[in-house]
Amino acid sequence: TDLARIRNFSIVAHIDHGKSTLADRLIQETNTVALRDMKEQMLDSMDIERERGITIKANTVRIDFIAADGLTYVLNLIDTPGHVDFAYEVSRSMRAVEGSLLVVDSTQGVEAQTLANVYQAIDADHEIVPVLNKIDLPASEPDRVREQIEDVIGIDASDALLVSAKTGQGIRETLQAVVDRLPAPRGDIDAPLKAMLVDSWYDSYLGVIVLVRIIDGRLKKGDRVRFMSNNTTHHVDRIGVFRPPMTEIDELGPGEIGFLTASIKQVRDTRVGDTITHEKRGTDKALPGFKPSQPVVFCGLFPVDSALFEDLRDAIDKLALNDASFSFEVESSAALGFGFRCGFLGLLHLEVIRDRIEREYDIDLITTAPSVVYHIHMRDGTMTELHNPADMPDLTHVDHLEEPRIKATILVPDDYLGDVLKLCQDRRGIQMDLTYAGPRAMVVYDLPLNEVVFDFYDRLKSVTKGYASFDYQMIGYREDALVKMSVLVNDEPVDALSMMVHRDRAEARGRAMVEKLKELIPRHMFKIPIQAAIGGKVIARETLSAMRKDVTAKCYGGDATRKKKLLEKQKAGKKKMRQFGKVEIPQSAFINALKMD
Ligand code: GDP
Ligand code: MG
Repeated sequence: TDLARIRNFSIVAHIDHGKSTLADRLIQETNTVALRDMKEQMLDSMDIERERGITIKANTVRIDFIAADGLTYVLNLIDTPGHVDFAYEVSRSMRAVEGSLLVVDSTQGVEAQTLANVYQAIDADHEIVPVLNKIDLPASEPDRVREQIEDVIGIDASDALLVSAKTGQGIRETLQAVVDRLPAPRGDIDAPLKAMLVDSWYDSYLGVIVLVRIIDGRLKKGDRVRFMSNNTTHHVDRIGVFRPPMTEIDELGPGEIGFLTASIKQVRDTRVGDTITHEKRGTDKALPGFKPSQPVVFCGLFPVDSALFEDLRDAIDKLALNDASFSFEVESSAALGFGFRCGFLGLLHLEVIRDRIEREYDIDLITTAPSVVYHIHMRDGTMTELHNPADMPDLTHVDHLEEPRIKATILVPDDYLGDVLKLCQDRRGIQMDLTYAGPRAMVVYDLPLNEVVFDFYDRLKSVTKGYASFDYQMIGYREDALVKMSVLVNDEPVDALSMMVHRDRAEARGRAMVEKLKELIPRHMFKIPIQAAIGGKVIARETLSAMRKDVTAKCYGGDATRKKKLLEKQKAGKKKMRQFGKVEIPQSAFINALKMD
């Protein structure tokens, strides 16, 4: 295709502002797929994504649009993931296109993810076209939101498009604006092949499907290519585009976006941002800035039923085929038996993987406390990474510890500002900035990641009744007074509950933990001490008193069916229990004990 007739773009938006609905409309308007084939929310393919309203895997679609000049343009839309956990992949895939539609819900205005995503687009030198969506709603305030975009983001919004992705209003204008306002790609068809790996995913029929943007040269079916980051070579057996159905074509040239398959078995071998070239007469200059994404949150996943360890291994192996950013290794715990220590890009990523294992593979899991990666500086000058509090070395050899910090941006209506400041302060935050964007405050905090990984987002939502939006980025490591807190139930250490905490918070945290556990652990026939300790020193203690009688005694009169039901219920409950010495702890206690309020 003639470069002048290609436009490549992405859509950036805060969650629920209408990115998927708009993408569907753009496809529908250009009749790329017949109406009857339009599934609701075509671009969100996985169930979990749909349920949670997030897009995890980038998808792409090629549409043909006959513009006002009567010429047909090829528009390539790539759908980037919208969540902070995938920030690195978003920033890479943004580099595959020249422009972005900035979708803002005109009844809501700019939110934290709007900011984070649009800054990524600006970093990638995108031309940005603001789109005010949901103008069909009575609560729509396009003028206010236009002004807000100019004030907060600092881009010209006077030509913002007025759109309803629901009714279809403004859709043709949006397509025309893509043609008129976004630049055509540039590239040299005669130069050695240089293609950027934008995304990849596993397909059970075709193996790994690799989404590429051709920068220079041409890619043909049958070519032998090299992935420059790991120097692997492959025979390209298919090339094509998504309309959205996969459609094979013979060749991709500069500026084009499409897929290749090459009998690649694992997504791990295909890293977002990598450069693909020909095996022979290839380029020697890879695209700059490639780095594989690093897991930042680790936790242990153990099967509730230890007989299912091999099943769990199988599930994890399969999921890992399709997710290069998820790492794992076998872990054995005195209390939980065999499981896996897994690394994730963030909390949402963790939840998605855990849900998929439970749902798709039907394995009940115990998830241990999520932990960030600490840097342990030893007395002898060496540094090691700590992924698991249980592996904390003997303190006599440790000089100091460092923890990862984030810069968090929170947008919140004025009414809730006080609660948000208190929450951030309670989590050891340092305020960096506080400004106003209309009736809302924008607060920026420097926070320890470990105070955020567990339930910060849930707390933020609850104290602001859902009105705050949040986004973060990693800013580096800093030294602090961190200690390992252990938990003992009936004098047995439960390693799955040990965690790293700040020394000043240890006592409060320990007390909250033992009080919580006292509620969560059912009574036994004997008395159970529950303790939190640092090193050998107990910092909090509760005692769960012994049960007096059999529970079924409560069923006065001896109603046989009720008694049977109760016993069945107890039996079902047992399945979700773990045995620690003589004590049974419900699976749910592990996660609930860590929720602090
Ligand atoms: P995403 O999270 O940005 O992909 O948002 P979705 O496309 O999933 O849309 C979020 C919700 O807003 C859905 O319930 C849509 O039906 C609704 N929605 C999207 N665009 C419009 C619009 O223009 N008008 C109205 N009234 N609702 C819309
Ligand atoms: Mg969506």
